[in-house]
Amino acid sequence: MKPYILVVEDEMPLITLLRYNLEEAGFEVEEATDGEEALISIMERKPDLVILDWMLPMISGIEVCRQLRRRRETRELPVIMLTARTEEGDRIRGLDSGADDYVTKPFSPKELIARIRAVMRRTRPSISAEKMTFADIEMDMIAHRVTRSGEVAHLGPTEFRLLRHFMEHPGRVFSREQLLDSVWGHNVYVEPRTVDVHIRRLRKALNVGKSPDVIRTVRSAGYAMELQRSSHKTGRGLAAQSREITQ
Ligand code: CA
Repeated sequence: MKPYILVVEDEMPLITLLRYNLEEAGFEVEEATDGEEALISIMERKPDLVILDWMLPMISGIEVCRQLRRRRETRELPVIMLTARTEEGDRIRGLDSGADDYVTKPFSPKELIARIRAVMRRTRPSISAEKMTFADIEMDMIAHRVTRSGEVAHLGPTEFRLLRHFMEHPGRVFSREQLLDSVWGHNVYVEPRTVDVHIRRLRKALNVGKSPDVIRTVRSAGYAMELQRSSHKTGRGLAAQSREITQ
């Protein structure tokens, strides 16, 4: 599963250059050439990160960024803004658009890729992590393998994405709609109860040996990943403490 980057830029030579270099670096790349197209594309399929040019026809990059920050589903979407050298760069910083980072044109692809990786490490640890652990569950992001107490758990692709999402936010309760937005994306027309089906499958797959259930059903709210209360001797903070990400 390659990290998916949306490049929003209206200069074709720059798009070509970025696409070539980002694909070489192991990213999946799509492009949008104006702000409106970018917003539609993001609603259809949520990228892992957006490279957003500030000077765009119709809707400016800064307005696109603001709209993304206003929507619940894209509030935390990582954005790197491209600005021209001149005072534009300073102005954009002053405008507080909500971008995670800024890169000034002209830049080297190598520099941009380093910034992308830095933003991803900060905002989406699982993307740059090789391994994630929660209690006795280990997720190998490269081999796409999940083990529980050393035993392999067999997960389908949707269950793998669900688990990754829970492991990125241990202890946090997600509604079915939130899980649909984050794990399935917007373009997929799925009923909220489909989530229940996949949660059941995930629970079953993780139920290796005598391991306790780590997915908690929160009545009328949704689901959260945490160690169940039956093992609460170890304290409430365990869920957070036992999460560890290895780069
Ligand atoms: Ca431009």
